[in-house]
Amino acid sequence: MARNHARLIADSGSAEVAPVVKADGYGLGVGPVGRRLWAGGARTFFVARLSEGQDLRRELGERDADILVLDGLSDLADAAPMAAARLTPVLNRVREIEAWSAFTGAARAPCALHIDSGMNRVGIDHERSREAATALALARNLDLGFVMSHLSCAAEPDHPRNALQLERFTAARKAFPGVKSSFAASAGIYLGPDYVGDITRPGISLFGGGPREVPDPRFAAVATLQAPVMAVRDLAAGESAGYGRMFTAPRAMKLAILAIGYADGVLRGSHASGSAHIAGVDCPFAIVAMDMMGIDVSKAPGIEPGDMAELLGPNRQLDDVAIAAATVPHECLVRLSQRAERVYLGEA
Ligand SMILES: *Cc1c(COP(=O)(O)O)cnc(C)c1O
Repeated sequence: MARNHARLIADSGSAEVAPVVKADGYGLGVGPVGRRLWAGGARTFFVARLSEGQDLRRELGERDADILVLDGLSDLADAAPMAAARLTPVLNRVREIEAWSAFTGAARAPCALHIDSGMNRVGIDHERSREAATALALARNLDLGFVMSHLSCAAEPDHPRNALQLERFTAARKAFPGVKSSFAASAGIYLGPDYVGDITRPGISLFGGGPREVPDPRFAAVATLQAPVMAVRDLAAGESAGYGRMFTAPRAMKLAILAIGYADGVLRGSHASGSAHIAGVDCPFAIVAMDMMGIDVSKAPGIEPGDMAELLGPNRQLDDVAIAAATVPHECLVRLSQRAERVYLGEA
């Protein structure tokens, strides 16, 4: 992760890299992840929820980071706990600007502002950015650190939506002269210098995902998921295995049962297309259940109970795992459960 972080710092040029560590540091543990990124120079972090900001603040201890909460004041009642934990809200509505200003009163309060340039989730509509600028000017106590926006199609560099969002964000920013900008997540950093802005917000590439959601040799695997073989059995052609006969052997074959399942974070939906790496061979999934799963080890006939299979890691890259599960790499990481025993190497 430290190497991936250094790569993103180099590729962000003069912009500050502010890691996104929402959802418990993409499922890998916000404490170890946050402290290691701090050791690598990170001083600004993004989380999604107020509770995640409180957790990160506690985990960082004395390390006095700027922690931005992307949900902002989606619940206006969050202003008090937000201020108590010294968290900075990313304000997503004019109503939130007013509420943050009213709550913080005479104190000089930091905030950021989200402009929606085409994701159509949260943020002030790009055409209404003047209204937000006016609200901020009236709220003289607010200290606007930056304005941000979020790209919807950055993993597809040729998508016309990228240029459209850049144009809209550039126009909206004119209402905030001299204020810093944040536009790029992992993928956006690789769209070119126009997209980088002053603060980048990478998440998935810190954790080994390629900016285009396909394996990219510039980013190393961070999490490795392994499980031991519990049993090996022979299946005759036409014999089935698993609940509801999930798998039927197309030919006589060897099935290795692994002590891992969807309760550990192997996505059940990948039972027909995933694979595990064992004894130097990629072996296709056959069944995925809650606590165990089966893989076709016909190509690795020497497998025995106790041998370790890799479900995710340097030999089973995150983006390939996601493609096999018809999902995004982000989901594969955040689904890793607490039941899977965790071992941290090189912890900060
Ligand atoms: C999750 C998120 C990011 C990080 O995205 P990655 O694709 O993981 O790099 C950045 N910005 C916002 C607003 C997000 O919600």
